[in-house]
Amino acid sequence: MRPTIATVSLDAIAHNYRQACRFAPASRNIAVIKANAYGHGAVKVAEQLQDKVPAFAVAFIEEAIQLRDAGISKPILVLQGVNHAAEISEAAAGNFWLLMHRQQQLDWLLSAKLKDPVRIWLKVDTGMHRLGLAPDALDLVCPTLDASDNVQADVVLCTHLASADDLSDPQTREQLDIIRACSKKHGLAVSIANSAAVLQWPEAHAEWNRPGYMLYGNCPVGLPVDDSFDLHPAMSMCSEIVAIRNIGPGEGVGYGHDWVASERSKIGTIAIGYGDGYPRHAPNGTPVLVNGQRVPLTGRVSMDAISVDLTGLEKVEIGDPVELWGPNLPVNELAAAAGTIGYEILAGLTGRVPLVYRSC
Ligand SMILES: *Cc1c(COP(=O)(O)O)cnc(C)c1O
Repeated sequence: MRPTIATVSLDAIAHNYRQACRFAPASRNIAVIKANAYGHGAVKVAEQLQDKVPAFAVAFIEEAIQLRDAGISKPILVLQGVNHAAEISEAAAGNFWLLMHRQQQLDWLLSAKLKDPVRIWLKVDTGMHRLGLAPDALDLVCPTLDASDNVQADVVLCTHLASADDLSDPQTREQLDIIRACSKKHGLAVSIANSAAVLQWPEAHAEWNRPGYMLYGNCPVGLPVDDSFDLHPAMSMCSEIVAIRNIGPGEGVGYGHDWVASERSKIGTIAIGYGDGYPRHAPNGTPVLVNGQRVPLTGRVSMDAISVDLTGLEKVEIGDPVELWGPNLPVNELAAAAGTIGYEILAGLTGRVPLVYRSC
């Protein structure tokens, strides 16, 4: 068996969820577990959190059905609502809460024949300009939903912040003003905060919050990590050195020889590549931990392998342990080196890396 394994601590995820509740104690904090719980395994994460959370959130209905089929019984908020009229009755049957972002979804809802009403959240576009109804549209929509037998009484207004990770961006305050005004006008509860807003925008905390990334122990507001957040990285992506060779000055490593030795060098190869989700754009020098020590990536990332420069290490052998990211090397740091964000690396795990769960 290939030694490349992602170990996931479910206790760390529970701990991180408690931090969301510590920061936003007056809110009900929904755990966002879309994209296979950001690569951590949605069913396992849901099993771990289900007696602690009021609800889960996923992006679309197939993700919600997968959780129900696995026996998860908590309400599941579907963040992009339905994609076809027929999904309305599936949602009703599954006790899914639908976050509706466009009029057509509401038309399907209003004309459906349902035994029991569905819980509806309304996405309001307060400035992200991606999804959501215009604030003015609520004047018509809210009374219509109120009058429909297909809709539960407790509609929630929801918006998503474009720049919650940037404390200096005035946009967040404008978005908050707009959604609070909508809430007041229509007398409805709201949900605003993602992870970044849970951690650093108390004004955005509301009846409901929607933390995702922070639950997996990574800081949603970049580096350096703020220790007061007290987040524990839940995933440890580990492998081993599978080959070692010495090369002379002028000799290159990997496809296209993108890295060329300037002196006699010891090159180690590790059994992970972009076929697993390691970012292909990680450049020479990207940090990798071998025996707990930082060494630089050398040469291009290929599908099944990467190479590193071991010249600086005293003693190193085939089989020595490697951490690609995890508690000792934040995924945000790898992401920054590769010109991406930790979210993309975690969500981009390809599924050929076994996920192994440990309880500490
Ligand atoms: C993904 C998502 C979240 C969670 O965002 P994080 O930054 O991961 O906390 C919250 N709300 C919506 C609508 C989302 O799509």
